[in-house]
Amino acid sequence: MKVLVPVKRAIDYNVKIRVKADNTGVETANVKMSINPFDEIAIEEATKLKEAGKVTEIVVVSIGPSQAQETIRNAMAIGADRGILVETDLPTDIGGVEPLAVAKTLKAIVDKEQPDLVIMGKQSIDDDSNQTGQMLSALLGWSQGTFASKVELGDGTVDVTREIDGGLETLTLQMPAIITTDLRLNEPRYASLPNIMKAKKKSLEITKPEDYGVDFSPRLSVVKVVEPAPRVGGGKVESVDELIDKLKNEAKVI
Ligand code: AMP
Repeated sequence: MKVLVPVKRAIDYNVKIRVKADNTGVETANVKMSINPFDEIAIEEATKLKEAGKVTEIVVVSIGPSQAQETIRNAMAIGADRGILVETDLPTDIGGVEPLAVAKTLKAIVDKEQPDLVIMGKQSIDDDSNQTGQMLSALLGWSQGTFASKVELGDGTVDVTREIDGGLETLTLQMPAIITTDLRLNEPRYASLPNIMKAKKKSLEITKPEDYGVDFSPRLSVVKVVEPAPRVGGGKVESVDELIDKLKNEAKVI
């Protein structure tokens, strides 16, 4: 059984995001980039299934700049067997490669690689789209289990427990299927030094968007990117009466 894991190179979650002076996007120059955290969870899940003897091959794919090779090597150090980079100079966060272009490229790769499962992040933390998995499922006509917090493989099926507003929902999907990961699915391991070294020798194929016949030109135009308004400080009240007065006359919420 083969699993495909798409991984995106995104701004590291610890970085304080700075909006560009011309409000067209966020600064990415000289900023630490890492594997999108939900994709790290996806690669961990695929690796656990491989270690349990249920998966034979994990293929990782990234669409992004040449530096995304590093992201792919990181995924290989966790457990992927080989990688594919679809190299593009377009930005992959805001105003560049959009989820539909990613989904169409992934569809072409799925058609070629014929995996039984695609395990991917529910969301990229840079554009917060939460679209690619759902679009890929629609393009392929495959079942989807989004926001997975538990995955159990059956015989030709996969049970996915999903985090939904009211609690947890469990679906049985017919494979092939798409799974998108939520935070509580697992805790990704740190790659060991020997595995980082081994990852350097694994196969990494470099391709171009044209190889898949996908048009990457943007369909959306970004109007403006701005920082959230700074939080105004709170204040202390001396009595319940003062609180009620403020709620009535200042906040005007009662
Ligand atoms: P999004 O729909 O942009 O929030 O992304 C959802 C998921 O799609 C991510 O967690 C990745 O697994 C995958 N994905 C999105 N963009 C890319 C990309 N450029 N390369 C590889 N995978 C991607």
